[in-house]
Amino acid sequence: MNPVTANAGPKPRPKSRPRKRRFSNPAASYAKRLERYRPGIVEFVLDGLASIYGRETWERRLDPTSELILTILTQNSADTNAEVAFEALRRAYPSGLPAETHRPGSGWGGIGLSPGAPPDWAAVEFAPIQELTNVIRPGGLANQKAPRLQATLRAIREERGDYSLEFLGDMTPLAARDWLTKVNGIGKKTASIVLLFCFGHPLFPIDRHVERVVRRVGLLPAKASIDDAHDLFLGLIDGDRMYEAHVNLIQHGRKICHAQRPEHERCPLFDRCRFVNAKAP
Ligand code: SF4
Repeated sequence: MNPVTANAGPKPRPKSRPRKRRFSNPAASYAKRLERYRPGIVEFVLDGLASIYGRETWERRLDPTSELILTILTQNSADTNAEVAFEALRRAYPSGLPAETHRPGSGWGGIGLSPGAPPDWAAVEFAPIQELTNVIRPGGLANQKAPRLQATLRAIREERGDYSLEFLGDMTPLAARDWLTKVNGIGKKTASIVLLFCFGHPLFPIDRHVERVVRRVGLLPAKASIDDAHDLFLGLIDGDRMYEAHVNLIQHGRKICHAQRPEHERCPLFDRCRFVNAKAP
């Protein structure tokens, strides 16, 4: 017996090349899956809505700090009430800065703020809490919102040294959203509103109107949370149609796809809506 072969044992297997780790992108995977099962559904929805609401082009709605505070004032309140509270802040804490113009666009549910200087944010942050609560009381939920406004302004000032949020325009959309959502009380919806409306960052805020329509039509997985949906939509809608999509879905929820008694017969999405036909293509 050859002593060499007798002790050789099993031949070592050639080393395989280390596999590259694949990071999954849930938004891209979901977009692919939806396109496979319901080809063209996203374009169908966007084009159908554009056929009745048009394609509104983006323009800055408001200064980003004003937008953030106004958006916090809209949380669980009608847009008209948020306007009342914001204008009360302007009167109670005048800044003397140049007037800002509110361009609410067609997704806004109020009448728009009158032109006026933004409030003095330092005065709002350091106001006695009871005083601030009384100032914004006409807008509703003042006991919750007054401390939230002050905590938000404090977080911005402590992090940045002042109250300006203009720097968010120089960040990537997701980095800017991450920055804002680190502030206690600011979720993806509020952050996305500020970034979409003030900078045109392609993010997709999902409010109750948008959620109702997209769930009914069947653009979201049934079990997706709203938090997840904010990310999934980034894979579904091209960045250059994000603003139009958001504004038109809100309008649709307000004008036709009401929570109670939606007007299916007027709806351009009828043929492919899973709310009226569970097997719609
Ligand atoms: S068909 Fe009816 S439920 Fe479906 S999106 Fe239109 S209005 Fe809403």
